[in-house]
Amino acid sequence: MLPRILLIPFLSLLAFGQSPKTPVPSPRLKIALDAGHGGDDTGAKGSKGLLEKDAALSIVQELSVSLDEAGFDVVLVRSDDTLIPLWDRAKIANEAGADLFLSIHLNAARARAAKGSEVYFLSLDRGDEDAASVAALENAGADVKPGADSVVAGILEDMAQKAYLQDSERLAVAMQLQLNRLGGIKERGVKQAPFVVLRGAAMPAVLVESAFISNGKEEAKLKDKAFLKKLAVALTQGVRRYFAGAAGTARRKAIVTSR
Ligand SMILES: [Zn+2]
Repeated sequence: MLPRILLIPFLSLLAFGQSPKTPVPSPRLKIALDAGHGGDDTGAKGSKGLLEKDAALSIVQELSVSLDEAGFDVVLVRSDDTLIPLWDRAKIANEAGADLFLSIHLNAARARAAKGSEVYFLSLDRGDEDAASVAALENAGADVKPGADSVVAGILEDMAQKAYLQDSERLAVAMQLQLNRLGGIKERGVKQAPFVVLRGAAMPAVLVESAFISNGKEEAKLKDKAFLKKLAVALTQGVRRYFAGAAGTARRKAIVTSR
């Protein structure tokens, strides 16, 4: 057994860079998990019939367990098969006082061989052609008209996400690194695209295209509980690395801005 005197500072350091002199634990950080699509909006469809809305919810459920085990609180934006307008999703996260917003999706491409994970953060312009077409698919759900309150809130909160773009990029990089490791991919970088769902988030926010549902092998993996767990652990590790690098600044900024 390790001597107690060694263990105490070590455990304190694990708590996201807290100084060993502050033994009082800080409140748990809160992660908003948004499972893409839902209800009539099925999202993309795999060749064996797996629907993106169902796969996204399965990932979010695994991720929720994994984040909880790692010491985070979780807010589920969508916990069943209902359609929540894109504009309202970030609003739910904002009202819950979440520290991060993760929107979980599956990618689809005409090229059946396309595979792997891509993490996006918000672009205020159109982005490159590939990114724009991914965003166009994901934004289709925005056709569900939001209420007037949501529109006003969305416009105001556009400015808030603008203030978080650097943090969102850092979060995207931390998560992409873990996903590259999981997929054995060396050099896939993060991307930027104009996703409606990210615009209203008053906190660092990313959209994860977790795998290609259009790729038969990846579609099969998405039905495998063991793979979903590995994916959830990789995403959780990305979140942990992000906060470890943030040294507390991301949270402080979030609290100041929400007042
Ligand atoms: Zn999607």
